[in-house]
Amino acid sequence: MLYPQEFDVIVVGGGHAGTEAALAAARMGCTTLLLTHNIETLGQMSCNPSIGGIGKGHLVKEVDALGGAMALATDEGGIQFRILNSSKGPAVRATRAQADRILYKAAIRRILENQPNLWLFQQAVDDLMVDGDRVVGAVTQVGIRFRSRTVVLTAGTFLDGKIHVGLNNYSAGRAGDPPAVSLSARLKELKLPQARLKTGTPPRLDGRSIDYSKCQEQPGDGVPGGMNAERPVPVFSFMGNTAMHPQQVPCWITHTNERTHDIIRSGFDRSPMFTGKIEGVGPRYCPSVEDKINRFADKDSHQIFLEPEGLTTHEVYPNGISTSLPFDIQYALVRSMAGLENAHILRPGYAIEYDYFDPRSLKSSFETKQIQGLFFAGQINGTTGYEEAAAQGLFAGLNAALQVKGEAPWLPRRDEAYLGVLVDDLVTQGVTEPYRMFTSRAEFRLQLREDNADMRLTEAGRRLGLVDDARWDAFSRKRDAVAKETERLKTTWVNPRNLPAAESERVLGKAIEHEHNLFDLLRRPGVPYAALVGFDDGRYVAPDVSRETLGDLLEPVVEQVEIAAKYAGYIDRQKSEVERASHYEGLKLPADLDYLQVKALSFEARQKLAQHRPETLGQASRISGITPASISLLMIHLKKGG
Ligand code: FAD
Repeated sequence: MLYPQEFDVIVVGGGHAGTEAALAAARMGCTTLLLTHNIETLGQMSCNPSIGGIGKGHLVKEVDALGGAMALATDEGGIQFRILNSSKGPAVRATRAQADRILYKAAIRRILENQPNLWLFQQAVDDLMVDGDRVVGAVTQVGIRFRSRTVVLTAGTFLDGKIHVGLNNYSAGRAGDPPAVSLSARLKELKLPQARLKTGTPPRLDGRSIDYSKCQEQPGDGVPGGMNAERPVPVFSFMGNTAMHPQQVPCWITHTNERTHDIIRSGFDRSPMFTGKIEGVGPRYCPSVEDKINRFADKDSHQIFLEPEGLTTHEVYPNGISTSLPFDIQYALVRSMAGLENAHILRPGYAIEYDYFDPRSLKSSFETKQIQGLFFAGQINGTTGYEEAAAQGLFAGLNAALQVKGEAPWLPRRDEAYLGVLVDDLVTQGVTEPYRMFTSRAEFRLQLREDNADMRLTEAGRRLGLVDDARWDAFSRKRDAVAKETERLKTTWVNPRNLPAAESERVLGKAIEHEHNLFDLLRRPGVPYAALVGFDDGRYVAPDVSRETLGDLLEPVVEQVEIAAKYAGYIDRQKSEVERASHYEGLKLPADLDYLQVKALSFEARQKLAQHRPETLGQASRISGITPASISLLMIHLKKGG
């Protein structure tokens, strides 16, 4: 059947990429259809029910700043929140939450079902409708043909997915879900460059069979009795608050030991990884426990976090023992650890191999170079992680919507957003293993912080049509209050004549010799904002004037002005680096440039440029093997009109 309505955007897949893609396109006014295997699994977390962490939390905050759902759903579903790296600099501080997977999914589904312009439909997509070199729709398992102007494909680990437990394997998209075999075959037919990756997950445990008295308790931040009880409970969304959080619960820690490691080694001869049954490369930073024991043979113990999967289930996720070893080995290795001697396994651990597509075959907007109107996002692009998927989904969804509207794509730069770093890394470098985000991937990370994701992106989100009135009003209040408070600090002068030395030493740590404004004083190491709150009009006039004027905005505003002052030197230096690089960063390379004929370049550089076909000189500079010298030669070639 040909479905009567034509959609602007069809999104295939209701995982983290697909849901954000569909929401973004619909928010931008496009009639959008989300086609997915099963409506019950919308927003399902295939692996650990946790959101955020270093680099990943940054992406979640950016998705939120652009009106996305992930952070709000985490605030509604989060049963433990922590700020990682809290004693380090603001650039690497990151929020992490353990989520109740049922509450999280329910929040995502509610947000989807209440989004105007968005329609859900449950069916597997088996085929794409392609007319010439343009996608024109998708065909489902029972032959329903849905027409659309663009398609965003977010099939996750499902394309020709194969699950391995020991030497047994079977086809699946993830445990309990069907694989997407026909669609995988169709994509291969379309000659999109494809390869295999793998990922894995640990066995899940029944909490009733765990002896927690032998484990170490790990409460979240702001929980009485915990290590960080004095801190506030973190909140993920810029629109969130702690009242949205359900009950908070602790995680627990146990360890592997020599016996665990012996048991794991005894299963190596039946490991699909070590016997060559699995061909795909796994995530380096989330290795299986057998990989860890093999690679770090000298370590006699590894920490294992026992993380609750929800408030209404006893299921526990043992973080750190992802494995595809045979079940008998899984059973013995679990029971070798303190507190888990009688643990009942609810679900076996497994590895999954799946197709991904070389992201270098995507344009910077995530549209495929070969097929117009077809966008890819999420795990299908060779990444790993819910957060990476959500960020890509939002990006592909908004760019599909822009294409429908006949507008140019929105491409955040590397100095504007982790999203810019993620997209640029993928389309210029490709992947050789599942790609995950780290703060170290961002060269301008001092300005790409979690705390200022809204300051960096919400205005762009509003222009694009992604940000609703409530978020815009809240953001505008904060932005204006930060500007006003910064101005107040810069124009409030403190004169030593009005400030006796003893008072100055008490408040500022040392006497001031000449007149300073409060912003300059705040730049001094060891002078916190709190020390300045009593200054007004050149004198120390307790009580605190800012608390009265800033009210509920006090904390976020102080955070912004304090970081801006303390790191002003570094931030200014980064800004000038960005400006220096910008003269060639955005310089467009002609689409028809025949690199093989640019004789001034080395043969290797010519080949690499011809293969990658970068869109800008900035992208060209990040292709591995392209040296600064090659870039200079290319610039000369372009200037000559070559
Ligand atoms: P998914 O969440 O996989 O969602 C894909 C969606 O598309 C599903 O809703 C599916 O039903 C739907 N779909 C697929 N094909 C079709 C079709 N033909 N028709 C209709 N619907 C379709 N991440 C980590 O960061 N660390 C880990 O250690 C880790 N381990 C993992 C272990 C396992 C076993 C699995 C399965 C995943 C693991 N992940 C891990 C990855 C994480 O789950 C993904 O990165 C993330 O879910 C990707 O989001 P996505 O939206 O791209 O795809």
